[in-house]
Amino acid sequence: MKIFKCDLHIHSTLSPCASLEMSPKNIVINAQKAGLDIIAITDHNMVENGFYAHELAKETGTAVLFGMELQTREEIHLLIIFDNYETASSFHRRIYDLLPEVENDPSYFGDQVVVDCDDNIVRFEKKLLLNSAQISLNDAVFLAKQMGALVISSHIDSPNFSIISQLGYVPEDLPLDALEVRKKENIPHLLPFIMNKGIPFVTFSDAHYIDDIGKRITALSLNEPNVEEIAKALKAMEKMVPSNDG
Ligand SMILES: [Zn+2]
Ligand SMILES: [Zn+2]
Repeated sequence: MKIFKCDLHIHSTLSPCASLEMSPKNIVINAQKAGLDIIAITDHNMVENGFYAHELAKETGTAVLFGMELQTREEIHLLIIFDNYETASSFHRRIYDLLPEVENDPSYFGDQVVVDCDDNIVRFEKKLLLNSAQISLNDAVFLAKQMGALVISSHIDSPNFSIISQLGYVPEDLPLDALEVRKKENIPHLLPFIMNKGIPFVTFSDAHYIDDIGKRITALSLNEPNVEEIAKALKAMEKMVPSNDG
C-alpha cells in the first residue's frame, strides 16, 4: 500500500468556463509539479481531452483516469470516473445524445476545444456542454455504477449545481462513492442533509486555472491507481465519522 495524492476534479480547454491554458499537456506538467499521483480530467459532460492527458502522462509518475462532470436533469453535478477510455467514451456517447441541441456561443460561454498532446487544436465542440443532460440523478448514478465508474457528488457545499442545492438532501439509497466538499469546515453543517451518514467526504481542486491544480487534494492508501482500489479505500473511510475539525 502506498499513499496516493488524488485530484480527481480538473477542467480543461473543453470546458467553456476553464482557461485556455488548461491543455492536456499543461495539466499533466503542472499535476506533476504539484506532486499529484492520480488526476482525472472532468470536463462538463465530456471525456475527450482525458485521452491526450493519459497519453502524455505515460512518461510521468502521474496516473490519469478518464472522467467527466455530468450535469443531470436536476442540474446536479456528478464526477463520473472510469479506468479506461473505451468505457468512458461509451458512457459519454449516451450522455452526449441526452444533451439539448443548443449550440455553444463562444463569445458568451467561452471556447470548447479538444487539444492534442502537442497543444494543437483537434476540433471545437459545437454543442453547448454547460447544460443538463436529460437523465435523472438516479438513472445517471445507477448507469455509471453499472458501467464500473466511481461516482462522486460534486461540491455539495456549493449554492449551485450541488445535490443539496438542487434536491435539498442526499438520498439514503443512492450508491455514491463519496461526497466532494470545497471546505472541510462545512461538513458539520451539511450532515443534517445527508441521510446516509456513512458516505465519505473528499476534496479536490475543481481547477479551471493552472495555478489551482492540486490546490485541494485527497490522499488515499492504495495498491494501484485505479477505480476499484479508490472505491475500496473510500469504503474503508465510510466507517470513520467526520469530526468537527474535519
Ligand atoms: Zn461543478
Ligand atoms: Zn467542476
